[in-house]
Amino acid sequence: MQFPTDAAELDRLIREHPERLAELAEYTPSWLGDQLRSAARDSHRAASHLPGEHVHAEPPRWLRLAALAALLTFAEGTATTCRCRPRIDRPQPIIAAAWMPGTVACRRHAIEVLTEGVPDDADTRCDACGVVPPGGLHTGQVVLGPMILFYAACAECRTWTDSEREGTR
Ligand SMILES: [Zn+2]
Ligand SMILES: [Zn+2]
Repeated sequence: MQFPTDAAELDRLIREHPERLAELAEYTPSWLGDQLRSAARDSHRAASHLPGEHVHAEPPRWLRLAALAALLTFAEGTATTCRCRPRIDRPQPIIAAAWMPGTVACRRHAIEVLTEGVPDDADTRCDACGVVPPGGLHTGQVVLGPMILFYAACAECRTWTDSEREGTR
C-alpha cells in the first residue's frame, strides 16, 4: 500500500483504518521516527505557550484537512518554505497557517513568511468559509506531528463537534 498523497484520503485512512496507518509507519526509518517524535514534542510544548485557542478535541474536517495538506506538501518537499528550507527528513518544529496553504516555515521565520503578501482584509476573513464575521474571528492553533498550524475562524466554523453538519462520522 502506498502512503496517501491526498489530504482527504489520508484523513479517511486515519479515521477509518488507523491500523493500516500503523503498518505504513513501520517503513519509516527508526532514526527519522525518533526525530519526528522529538520535533512533535517540541511543537506541542511551543504551542502551549502561544496565545489563542489550543485545540485538544478533534478539530472540524476543514481544519484537519488544512493540517494534513500542509504536512503532506511539506513531506513531499513541494511546500514553499522559509529560507532555512526545512525538510521532513531533518525534523524540527515547523509552522503553517490555514490562510496560506502550501507554505511552511521554521519557528524563527514563521511570522515573516506567513504574513508576507497576505491581503489587508485577509486577517478578518474566516479561513474556512471566507466570511468576515461581525463578531471577529477565533484564532488558535492545532499541532499535527512536528507542525503547528495557525487558523482564524468564525464561530460557525470553529465548532469542534460538527459531525452532523459534515456527516462524516
Ligand atoms: Zn527559517
Ligand atoms: Zn467560517
